[in-house]
Amino acid sequence: MNKEYDYLIVGCGLFGVVFAREMTDAGHKCLIIDKRNHIAGNVYTENVDGINVHKYGPHIFHCSDKDIWNYVNKYANFNSFRYEPIANYKGELYNLPFNMNTFYQFWGTRTPEEAKAKIESQKVPNNNPRTMEEFALANVGRDIYEKLIYGYSYKQWQIDPKELPASIIKRLPLRFTYDNNYYRDKYQGIPEGGYTQMVANILGDIEVKLSTDFFENKKHFESIADKVVYTGKIDEFFNYEFGDLEYRSLRFETETLDMENYQGIAGMNYTDAETPYTRVIEHKHFEFADTKHTIITREYSETFNRKNEAYYPINDEKNNNVYNQYKKKSETLGNYIFGGRLAEYKYYDMHQVIGGALARSRKILNKE
Ligand code: FAD
Repeated sequence: MNKEYDYLIVGCGLFGVVFAREMTDAGHKCLIIDKRNHIAGNVYTENVDGINVHKYGPHIFHCSDKDIWNYVNKYANFNSFRYEPIANYKGELYNLPFNMNTFYQFWGTRTPEEAKAKIESQKVPNNNPRTMEEFALANVGRDIYEKLIYGYSYKQWQIDPKELPASIIKRLPLRFTYDNNYYRDKYQGIPEGGYTQMVANILGDIEVKLSTDFFENKKHFESIADKVVYTGKIDEFFNYEFGDLEYRSLRFETETLDMENYQGIAGMNYTDAETPYTRVIEHKHFEFADTKHTIITREYSETFNRKNEAYYPINDEKNNNVYNQYKKKSETLGNYIFGGRLAEYKYYDMHQVIGGALARSRKILNKE
């Protein structure tokens, strides 16, 4: 007997939505469910009095892949926003990422040669750095480390960088150009009208059931579709049988202020160890909103547990080994597809998730 749906998709984030769109366009019947009460997963934006608030952290679209850029432009117009955050260290302001503007602010150096010489003189050589502190001192020197890295990393990990392994930071790039643009990608911007609208446009008339947890009715959902696409946490799917995968979590504190402009920029990082939050986001600057009020969000790093949100996977050796056990087991389930940041236990940017969903769906369609 034919089942009601070809695909039951668990999760209405970018992976689930893009996969469902491709399959629907190819004539397959899809149902998306999500346990949250809204579409768009972590890219969800909520319009609050004319300002699109990024509810799960600030999201800037960036990629260098023309196909993916063309794909998202079918569903949204992107503005020309560039992410150029500022670091606030006890009231001193520095441009990020570390570039010629930052070096000028630190030392008054004007040419790349002067800046390089200054940084060299600040470095603490170490051929085999074991801690994050040793790694940073060897690569960027004392001033940048002490004012821009130490306190921020301490708050992010809630561990002193003197004790964090060097492997936690892969690189600390220094730019010898006057370029504050955080991303180096060719295509960048924010969808006008917010991500939720973009996701709604991708969805079109695909059926979606919100506030619906897959695990509360797993047997039923398996029975109504030929295949299940699962984009939730992979350890939860297997009832944590190989152990919990670790994440960093975040807490957001959002406030409406009766003023037009609070900090003059979308993102300000607080890089001292004492300020309890890591950054303040002022949402109106993503879309140049023209309002009399403003909305800010203070972002705090939090320890993850099964009850709060999983944000950043901790892809160290221990966790990757646990993940590989889940992955192996998932490959034995013929009628399941696992995709997206939680099911693949990877930090993916939006374009990577979209690229992954397009690749996965096209591979299946080519085989049919
Ligand atoms: P999600 O969006 O998490 O979707 C998964 C969905 O599955 C969720 O809605 C969840 O509710 C649902 N679900 C899970 N379990 C169940 C269940 N049992 N039953 C029903 N539903 C379930 N990327 C960028 O490109 N640029 C950025 O600037 C950027 N900023 C970021 C900032 C932060 C703080 C973070 C954490 C990430 C950022 N990202 C950014 C990455 C981006 O958020 C992800 O790439 C993208 O959201 C992943 O989409 P997804 O579909 O894999 O997962």
